[in-house]
Amino acid sequence: MDFSNKLVSWYQSNKRDLPWRSTNNPYHIWLSEIILQQTRVLQGTPYYLAFLKAFPTIKDLANSTEDKVLKMWQGLGYYSRARNLHFTAKYIVDNFGGEFPKDYSEVLKLKGVGVYTAAAITSFAFNMPYAVVDGNVIRVLSRVFGVSIPFDISAGKKQFQKLAQELLIEKKAAIYNQAIMEFGAIICKPKSPHCSSCHLQDSCVAYSTNSVAQLPVKSKKVKVNDRFLYYLLIEQKDNIFFGKRKSGIWTGLYEFPFLEFMKKMDEKQVMKSNDWLKIFLNSTFNIKSVSCEFIHVLSHQKIHAQFWRIKATGVELEEYELISKNRLLELPVSRLTEKYFETIKLV
Ligand code: SF4
Repeated sequence: MDFSNKLVSWYQSNKRDLPWRSTNNPYHIWLSEIILQQTRVLQGTPYYLAFLKAFPTIKDLANSTEDKVLKMWQGLGYYSRARNLHFTAKYIVDNFGGEFPKDYSEVLKLKGVGVYTAAAITSFAFNMPYAVVDGNVIRVLSRVFGVSIPFDISAGKKQFQKLAQELLIEKKAAIYNQAIMEFGAIICKPKSPHCSSCHLQDSCVAYSTNSVAQLPVKSKKVKVNDRFLYYLLIEQKDNIFFGKRKSGIWTGLYEFPFLEFMKKMDEKQVMKSNDWLKIFLNSTFNIKSVSCEFIHVLSHQKIHAQFWRIKATGVELEEYELISKNRLLELPVSRLTEKYFETIKLV
């Protein structure tokens, strides 16, 4: 049996029972694929089920508010996925009457859908012959066929895409694509792959050349920048300044005003900074508490955050609203702010 058929036959008896595997509804598949981008199955599954319960159809999702979609997404990270999901649901309702498009090029035009996701949706839902290439597929192909070109350079991307397409069993696109991804996820894993029990061992180049740990090859190292943020919970009577972020990875989420520095600052240094003086110049204030440092790691940045609770009068901040403390927990926030909320009593 060749590589592709062996994978399919392995998959049929070893696949995990996951809720999106029992459907070919393109809306369900699209939703699961967006959730599973950068999210593990275990973490993503309850979100998938909750979204389908709250929004059984694309129209239901389109009719929701962005705040509600972001609130439901809270904790999953990479919030542009949720904003794109909502935007695209409205786009599908406006342009396709709420029916998910069936044409590959139309699917690829949807916001938040790249080459991988378009191939996943069209193959899983409509059995169209488009090979998926994600991290799992790249790992399996690079090891089994000994492909050592870096997968994150243009020539590498093309080579993996070409190889994946050649190996695709066109008439069984849905099952083949799922099989190779599943094999990468549970057998040919990034660390500690199950080589000793692997049925592809005999034909695996990486195994026979003892280079499993060296494949696949990545060219770039992601540079992680440290950021030092001091969030200010400025309370005036029973209200707190809170605002919707207009740019960056947390667009659409609510946050407290904050000061940002290049390095860690002590309390005196923070209170002597120009940004602090600008906020509190014409006010009286009293610092009620300063939190410990919260570390939040994202793909390109490591955030060191501290939260200061301050009682004040006379503060004016145009970009923030004064929101009742009771309402804060209803609004969508980043996981970082959520983690802080878990440590305090707001009201
Ligand atoms: S033998 Fe090891 S490296 Fe090769 S395909 Fe199997 S699990 Fe992956």
